[in-house]
Amino acid sequence: MDTRKVYCSECDREVSLAFTDPPTNPGGQASLSDGDLVCLEMNERCHGHVCPVCRISPEALAVRIAKSGLRPDQHATLHAMCDGCQRETDLMMTRGGYVTCPECGATRMMVRA
Ligand SMILES: [Zn+2]
Repeated sequence: MDTRKVYCSECDREVSLAFTDPPTNPGGQASLSDGDLVCLEMNERCHGHVCPVCRISPEALAVRIAKSGLRPDQHATLHAMCDGCQRETDLMMTRGGYVTCPECGATRMMVRA
């Protein structure tokens, strides 16, 4: 995986960026699409701003981070039924009240009991 240091104007310091591996096609050929850009140092300060480095909202970035599995310490997990694959998985809770399934990648709003 490719990582690099990039200056973030929001955090006013250099942060570590990672490119997640591009998805591969079922046929085994490498996809033409690039991997997603993920900031590994997103923190509470980033909340409410579009990340100047990744150019997406912190909520979307948190989902990317959760899906990438790069920062398991960034999110809690919730063992529950996934709407996407209809299995019980350890759904990853990300900021903004979303949960993401590590198995199928489905993301949905967490329903508060
Ligand atoms: Zn799922």
